Amino acid sequence: MDYDVKGNLRRVLGDLPEGVRLVAISKYHPNEYIEAAYAEGQRIFGESHEQELRQKVETLPKDIEWHFIGHLQTNKVKYIAPYISMVEAVDSLKLLKEIDKQAKKNNRTIRVLLELHIAEEETKYGLTLDDCRQLLSDGEWRALEHVQICGLMMMASYVDDQEQIRREMMTARQFFDEVKAQYFADCDYFCERSWGMSHDYPIAVECGSTMVRVGTTIFGPRVY
Ligand SMILES: *Cc1c(COP(=O)(O)O)cnc(C)c1O
Repeated sequence: MDYDVKGNLRRVLGDLPEGVRLVAISKYHPNEYIEAAYAEGQRIFGESHEQELRQKVETLPKDIEWHFIGHLQTNKVKYIAPYISMVEAVDSLKLLKEIDKQAKKNNRTIRVLLELHIAEEETKYGLTLDDCRQLLSDGEWRALEHVQICGLMMMASYVDDQEQIRREMMTARQFFDEVKAQYFADCDYFCERSWGMSHDYPIAVECGSTMVRVGTTIFGPRVY
C-alpha cells in the first residue's frame, strides 16, 4: 500500500470534534485500503457506484455501514436496498418513493438524506431550496413508512474561495433549522448535516456538519 491510510485516518479523526462522524469515501479504492481503515476502527464507508459497492459488500466485513453518496438511479435502488445503511443523496420524490418501495420489499427502513443544490456550479445534482420546500410541503413523503428522512446533505462549490464555501455551508445550516422547525421538530432522528469533503471539511465542521465525507485525504488520489 503506497498510502498511509491509517495515519491519514487518525489525522482526520483528530480534526473532528465530538458529534461529527466520518464517512470514509472509498470509491475507486481497493479493498486493502478499506481493510486498513477498518482495522483502525472505521466502520462507516461511502461509495457512489452500485456495482463497485456490491463487490465490496460481498467481500468485506459485514458490520460495515455503507452509505450511498452518489447520484442514484431509480433502477439501481433494488440492488442496494437489502443492505444499504443510508442513501445520502435523495434529490427527487420519485427516488424517495422507489427507496421506500424497495425497503418495504426487504422488510426494513432505509435512512436517507435530502441532497441540496446550493453550489453555484451547474453540474451538481440536488434539490434547490425551493424544490426541497416544495417536496416537503406537498406532504406525499409522509405516507412513506419505509424511509426515514434523517437530515440534509450538500456539496459546496469546488473552489479555493473559503468564504464562498462557508457561505454555501451556512445557507445549508440555516435551511436545516428551517426544515427541522417546520417538519421534523419532534423527530430526534432528523439530525444529520452531511457536508465537508477533503478540501473543505474543517470549514464544514465550523458550519455545523455532523457527518463529513472524506476520501482523498485518507486514501490518496483516486485512479479512475
Ligand atoms: C467523492 C465524494 C466525496 C469525497 O471527496 P474527496 O474530495 O475525495 O474527499 C464526498 N462526497 C461526495 C458526494 C463524493 O462524490
